[in-house]
Amino acid sequence: MRTDTDIGATVLGYPRFGPQRELKWAVESYWSGSIDQTELEGRAATLRADTWREMADGRLDTIPGNTFSYYDHVLDTAWMLGAVPPRFSDLGLAPLDTYFAMARGRASVPALEMTKWFDTNYHYLVPELGPDTSFTLDVTKPVGEYREAVAQGIATRPVILGPVSFLLLSKPHAGAPQGWDPLDLLEPLLDTYDHLLTELAEEGVAWVQLDEPCLVEDRSPGELEAVTACYGRLGSLEKRPKILVATYFGTPGPALPHLATAPIEGIALDLVTTEPTGVALVAHDLADKIVVAGVVDGRNVWRTDLDTALKKVVPLLGLAGSVALSSSCSLLHVPYDADAETDIDPEVRSWLAFARQKLAEIVVLQKALTDGPDSVADEVGAARSVVERRLGSSRLRNAAVRERLEGLAGSRPSRGAYRTRLSEQRSLGLPVLPTTTIGSYPQTREIRRLRSDFASRKVEREEYESVMRAEIESVIRLQEEIGLDVLVHGEPERNDMVQYFAEQLDGYVATQHGWVQSYGSRGVRPPILFGDVSRPSPMTVEWSQYAQSLTNRPVKGMLTGPVTMLAWSFVRDDQPLAETANQVALALRDETVDLEEAGLRVIQVDEPALRELLPLREVDRASYLDWAVASFRLATSGVSDSVQIHTHMCYGEFSDIIAAIEKMDVDVISLEASRSQMGVLDDLDGSDFTRSVGPGVYDVHSPRVPTVEEMTNLLVKAVGAVGSERLWVNPDCGLKTRHYDEVVPALNNLVAAAAAIRGIQS
Ligand code: GLN
Ligand code: ZN
Repeated sequence: MRTDTDIGATVLGYPRFGPQRELKWAVESYWSGSIDQTELEGRAATLRADTWREMADGRLDTIPGNTFSYYDHVLDTAWMLGAVPPRFSDLGLAPLDTYFAMARGRASVPALEMTKWFDTNYHYLVPELGPDTSFTLDVTKPVGEYREAVAQGIATRPVILGPVSFLLLSKPHAGAPQGWDPLDLLEPLLDTYDHLLTELAEEGVAWVQLDEPCLVEDRSPGELEAVTACYGRLGSLEKRPKILVATYFGTPGPALPHLATAPIEGIALDLVTTEPTGVALVAHDLADKIVVAGVVDGRNVWRTDLDTALKKVVPLLGLAGSVALSSSCSLLHVPYDADAETDIDPEVRSWLAFARQKLAEIVVLQKALTDGPDSVADEVGAARSVVERRLGSSRLRNAAVRERLEGLAGSRPSRGAYRTRLSEQRSLGLPVLPTTTIGSYPQTREIRRLRSDFASRKVEREEYESVMRAEIESVIRLQEEIGLDVLVHGEPERNDMVQYFAEQLDGYVATQHGWVQSYGSRGVRPPILFGDVSRPSPMTVEWSQYAQSLTNRPVKGMLTGPVTMLAWSFVRDDQPLAETANQVALALRDETVDLEEAGLRVIQVDEPALRELLPLREVDRASYLDWAVASFRLATSGVSDSVQIHTHMCYGEFSDIIAAIEKMDVDVISLEASRSQMGVLDDLDGSDFTRSVGPGVYDVHSPRVPTVEEMTNLLVKAVGAVGSERLWVNPDCGLKTRHYDEVVPALNNLVAAAAAIRGIQS
């Protein structure tokens, strides 16, 4: 058995904003002016040193470097390459402030666009390129961090976004000619990467890791040619470090031969999301390469079955020059330390592995390869028994839930025909172009404080409930005054649209410190779905019923859909996602039935993450959409035809899922649209979408108050595309991050815009 000693046990990246979110506090203090740049840099250096120390103490053989970021690693790459759009350099700010301006914008200068990092919950900043872009290399960050680690006695492997993915993740700037493609910049970009690699070699860097996650998506022949051109050229450089090209979040598939034949030294493969299919096909080209096998899940939180992980590596052993072991992707996507979760029941906690625990797993696996499986028999046995205890635990199974789902299997739950429901729902008495909001109202500091005081038992239930009721009442009265048609209770009791439900469902636990970076200084704390999900008691009924009791206008009940519940959680890996989604759906179904019984006639089930979980490869999409739609229908088809079902989605680009959205069989959908100037309407126009739709006319992500005229214009466009009969009028998303002094005038204008259109129509 040939095993690698050059890379050995490693990870592709590590969490970077600190176990106590130190970087968040430092960066935000810098932004608010309470610390200066020197202080910020000092804290960042300490954090980096701690990170390298932690990986070294974890006994990894080699340690990734340059994984630190003040905000985002794609932004760092653009910065390193000098791809700074003039609207930022023209501000004349100090370099660090220019960098932050690109991330966050300035008064009149919009930030770079932020978008999702593949199918994760991390968001990156989209570089803007054009034919006029000229790259100028600034190696301060990668070289500086390499030197810092060396001073600490640690020789790191700098991690840098690869040239092909950098271009594929970028977009043409507004001035670029139609049809111009960032890949046109490959040649000049490679000149810059040549310099970079030469500089790193001169610095003494032995290995560089070039990340090419875009290769796990479907790529055109031209793009694959770019891969060959890129690594053919970088690999032929005279003076350079050894090159490890890392792919993750799936299999490189057809891109693999392009990497295998390239003159590079290593390829990292994600063996968690996919089996190493295709590796055999290119085996002869792997004979001189190190394959870094990502067998420890970098995106989920369960302890690894080391035995199974080793078995995945076996087929590689005869094919690759040598094999090193790693996480399937950067550990950026998991929290730091499961041992810190002292509030989680010890049985469940024993099943968990966060970043720190994953290091240990990888080291054991590498030892099994190097010294033979017997050398780590105890560790492998212990891991095996933890996994067996988890899978055999009675806490994973709820017979009643399983029986109910089995009873439903085969029957496709559905409601009466859409047309029939429409006439039933006339009893709601809504005008044409009904106005509504997406659910949440501004969360004032008092409300947030009350919630956290109640959670930490500083406030009694009675006081908590009475303040919440007062808040709901004031939100209802406000909506009546503004003249909205379908009201909401405002969601003051919810910290987060997923966590709120997770805390009330069996089969879920919440973490105390399990933060992962979402973007910049923002973290999220995804709850952990470990077992069969069930609903011990109603979750939202009391608040919604109370809200409805205050008004004659219809109040919308407000739930989070099954796909979003999974997308924003860590989810059990012992059964298909579809099954887990159905269990969540069943709990939601019971909730909708209870809401109807309590007198609610409109219910919204949010699915903002439906698009987000869409598989990266086309071949996997249809089956995903099938189960996603089925779970939504299971959740929403238990109510009478007279109950109007709404859903809401908010992350652009709906064109490729419109047919699936139609199949969700809702009565009304609200969509984010105002940022794209109603671009979504082009997708709907000419599609077979028949439901009522509220394209957002008020961009809630901006503090700006849109005028009546602006919103009227957007509505005119919308009437043109879908007609007035099925048009709703609403903001883009929930209002919880806004302030009342923006929201009240904006909603007044929104209602006036709807009235103006009704006036034209009649
Ligand atoms: N009902 C939620 C709210 O208004 C929806 C949030 C979302 O779409 N992300 O806050
Ligand atoms: Zn939204």
